[in-house]
This record gives sequence, structure tokens and C-alpha cells, in this order.
Amino acid sequence: HHGYIEVVIGPMYSGKSEELIRILKRSKIAKQNVVAFKPAIDNRYSNEDVVSHSGASINAIPIKSAKEIYEHIDSDTQVVGIDEIQFFEDEVVDIAIDLADKGIRVIAAGLDMDFKGEPFGPTPRLLAVAEFVQKLQAVCMVCGNPAHRTQRLINGQPAKYDDPIILVGATESYEARCRKCHVIIKEND
Ligand code: ADP
Ligand code: ZN
Repeated sequence: HHGYIEVVIGPMYSGKSEELIRILKRSKIAKQNVVAFKPAIDNRYSNEDVVSHSGASINAIPIKSAKEIYEHIDSDTQVVGIDEIQFFEDEVVDIAIDLADKGIRVIAAGLDMDFKGEPFGPTPRLLAVAEFVQKLQAVCMVCGNPAHRTQRLINGQPAKYDDPIILVGATESYEARCRKCHVIIKEND
């Protein structure tokens, strides 16, 4: 039995978590030994869930670094799921390759682009080395066309290119948008 890498990408709200959860649940039903991971936002809980925007969920282990995956798998592990892959360091790609070489089916889900429409962290390299890639689309919140980008909004207005990641006192939100409706305001616009 040989391993492989499968990646699910797309903008926010495109159903990446839903798809990851679907694949992992089917594997569990088929009696596969499945372990799911997600980036740790805080370390208060040892066990959390991957939860989709539509409410589906599956148990996942929060980890700070992709290296920690090795602490939670053994020779019986057949399937490894990783959500929010864009938040891990580049090494997550080498680890995915190593796991697949060892015979594990690796399924990773995450953002392929940031809100500026630029390739996001380790995801582009993971796409290059994966056997299978599913690029999902959301529905554009402005025009209803397929949306492959994520719009960042600050107090309801399109974010500027150089806006800091954390804006104190501002209300930040995100929505799925198509190429035509996605707005990035650069300093000299
Ligand atoms: P992702 O992991 O890609 O952010 P989720 O799997 O968490 O996506 O959520 C997908 C769900 O989000 C959809 O099934 C739908 O219920 C909801 N949703 C909210 N806004 C949109 C949108 N603009 N287009 C499509 N689905 C949306
Ligand atoms: Zn649009």
C-alpha cells in the first residue's frame, strides 16, 4: 500500500473544511486509522475540532509546529488530515512528502492565496508536489460568479494592501469574491 498527497484549496467559504471532513469521515467509516491536525491558536485544549462554516466537524489535534505530527502517529496510521495548511511553516511540505513516502494518505486543506491574491505560505509548494489537487470555488458575495479570492474588509471597506494584520479597534471581516469584484487598494491608488 502506498501513500500519496491530496490538497484541497480555495478561498474562504469555498468548502475546504467541509471537503476535508467529508473525506476523513469516509475513511473512518472504511475502518482506516485517521488522525487530523490543525494549527494551535492557543494551547488551552489538547483536543479540538475542525469545524466548517456550515457546522460539520471532526476531531483534530491542535499543533504549533508540523513536526508535532510525528508525536501523534504510529505504524498503524493510514490517513493524516491537516487543515489550515497555510499557517504552518515551509517544513510542513517536507513532512507531507515523508509521510506519503512512508505509505500514509495525506490530505491537506487550506488557502492558496492571501487576501491580496498572492500565494500563501507553504501551500503553493505543496500543490506542486501533490498527486491530487482540488481547487474549490465559493460564490462571489458581490455578483454571484464563482469566487476564487478572499476579500478582506476593514469596517466594511476593502482593506489596503499595507494594512497591518492586526488592527486595534477595527471590525475586520472576510468574504469570497471573484477576480472582477476583488479589490486591493495599494498606497498610490
Ligand atoms: P472553508 O473551509 O473553505 O472556509 P467551509 O467548509 O468552512 O469553507 O464552509 C463552507 C460553507 O460556507 C458553505 O457550505 C456555505 O454554507 C458557507 N458559505 C458562506 N458564505 C459563502 C459563500 N460566499 N460562498 C459559498 N459558501 C458560503
Ligand atoms: Zn464577483
